[in-house]
Amino acid sequence: MANVQDLLRPSIKALKAYSSARDEFQEDTSDMVFLDANENPFNNGINRYPDPQQNEVKDVLSSLKGVRKNHILLGNGSDEVLDLIVRAFCEPNQDNIIILPPTYGMYEVLANLNAVAIKKVLLTETFQPQVDQILDVADANSKILFLCSPNNPSGNSFNDNEVETLLKKFEGIVVIDEAYIDFSNQDSWLGRLEEFPNLIITQTLSKAYGMAGIRLGICYASEAIISVLNTIKPPYNINVLTQNKAVELLKQTELVSDEIDSILIERSKLMSELKSISYINKIYPSDTNFVLVKLDDATKRYNQLIKEGVVVRNRTTQPLCENCLRLTVGTPSENITLITALTKLQ
Ligand SMILES: *Cc1c(COP(=O)(O)O)cnc(C)c1O
Repeated sequence: MANVQDLLRPSIKALKAYSSARDEFQEDTSDMVFLDANENPFNNGINRYPDPQQNEVKDVLSSLKGVRKNHILLGNGSDEVLDLIVRAFCEPNQDNIIILPPTYGMYEVLANLNAVAIKKVLLTETFQPQVDQILDVADANSKILFLCSPNNPSGNSFNDNEVETLLKKFEGIVVIDEAYIDFSNQDSWLGRLEEFPNLIITQTLSKAYGMAGIRLGICYASEAIISVLNTIKPPYNINVLTQNKAVELLKQTELVSDEIDSILIERSKLMSELKSISYINKIYPSDTNFVLVKLDDATKRYNQLIKEGVVVRNRTTQPLCENCLRLTVGTPSENITLITALTKLQ
């Protein structure tokens, strides 16, 4: 396993964070007069800059997930977190990342945006990582391996043994994107964070937690990694409205778990109903809140569904996903609409 400090870009190692007004004065001080940040002093609930360290949100997450606060970093969606990770470890025009298609599209976009090369190693037919090929293709400049588990768009989780081998043998940072972990029966890798200094886990409030609109992504890693990401993140990256709403809704744990239960029940109902659609040839197993299906002609069916007022995701251009549509599990009535539309199509 490589040393995290050795993997960092030299310029990042040398970087000193911008120190904001709120960073420089942090004692607890309800009765202080704040004349340090050029804010408008008249209180409307959002006239003050947000807490750059999002302490309240992290307190709630910390007790919810059993992870200490200094192992948590928050971003404007996981997309910001993933971007920070690429920028911390990958030197433009020199380093590369490894991704395993078919997978989440943002890894490639973020690499391209940062002038970082991409090595692709396809998943197997059952959408598992090809460990030997990944380790073969890795070179001294392969700084990050992105594992999306459960994977989007295939819907399955990667086998623990394979992931563990990669964590031990890949000589760079391993990012496990767990955006869908709350829909899975597999354990999160969070429980094993301490074992692997090169492990970064990302999660999000956008899927199971029902907060895609507030943009809050979460990153869990060693204190060393978190402190570097903290140095390079924009100082006020999580706004006041997002922080307040996240704290409020994260505390409603029963609501979220009821919604997840309902989505899981609907998922299995949907999967059994899809079996009776004659032109669907394959329904892939799902550890997520979506189902990947292979049909006779994905683009034709996609367009027909739109005419019926149902929008799904056409994944047919993705490797190993020829003629596949990705169907998000909706409310019970939305799923009836989907099945009714699918049944009607000629
Ligand atoms: C939806 C999704 C995310 C979430 O991104 P946010 O920016 O947090 O909304 C991350 N990773 C994967 C694989 C996803 O499908």
